[in-house]
Amino acid sequence: MSRYKNGNPKRQSRFICLQCLQENKLAQGIQRKSQRKKFHIKDLTCLNCDGKICKCIEVRYCDSFDEVMDKAKELSKMYYSRENINKENNRKVG
Ligand SMILES: [Zn+2]
Repeated sequence: MSRYKNGNPKRQSRFICLQCLQENKLAQGIQRKSQRKKFHIKDLTCLNCDGKICKCIEVRYCDSFDEVMDKAKELSKMYYSRENINKENNRKVG
């Protein structure tokens, strides 16, 4: 009997979409054999962005989600400076 269907969740990376700044739930099951560098950016499909391919930043199991979220906000301005103004205004983050 296994408690976790996707392996050990403590070792799984999560991803934050740089366009909508929400966690990319599609990417949750991704597991890596080798450790990537911190703040690794990957192109992933994001359901929050109508299934578009978005730049997503990796939150490794050893990283603080909040820290990566801060970085994501910074990078979001670089990658998606003008494209996502509507959603940003609706959500007044931080
Ligand atoms: Zn997104």
